Amino acid sequence: MPSIFSKIVDGEIPCHRIAENEEFLAFLDINPLAEGHVLVIPKTEVDYFFDLDDDVLSRINIFARDVAHKIKKAIPCKRIGVAIIGLEVAHAHIHLIPLQNIADINFERPKLSFTTEEFADTAERITRV
Ligand code: 5GP
Repeated sequence: MPSIFSKIVDGEIPCHRIAENEEFLAFLDINPLAEGHVLVIPKTEVDYFFDLDDDVLSRINIFARDVAHKIKKAIPCKRIGVAIIGLEVAHAHIHLIPLQNIADINFERPKLSFTTEEFADTAERITRV
């Protein structure tokens, strides 16, 4: 049974794409902690982030760094925070979260909700950087 993120990779489930190459995909989190909250995934499904091979782990972090720079330019924030959780979706991923303060990366906080148009606008602002 493919993960929900594999279904996103395959185009079975829509997402707001931010960046991709042959190996990795970045897209907006559907239940974000902040505007511009992005998930970075390997297209090949691996459950646990720390089971990724050395070379994949290295390349996904470089890919995430480039995405983080784009988010930082598009979304007003002090820093881009990084989190590895994986308790909800068993497909390795990195959370990239624009931070104004530490509360912005508190996963116990209620998530924000945006309309499809608002998500599309956020994605457009990040991708056009
Ligand atoms: P974690 O597994 O790191 O605890 O959390 C998984 C994250 O994936 C959550 O922040 C959740 O909002 C996000 N997520 C779960 N399902 C979907 C989906 O179908 N689309 C998108 N864009 N994000 C999702």
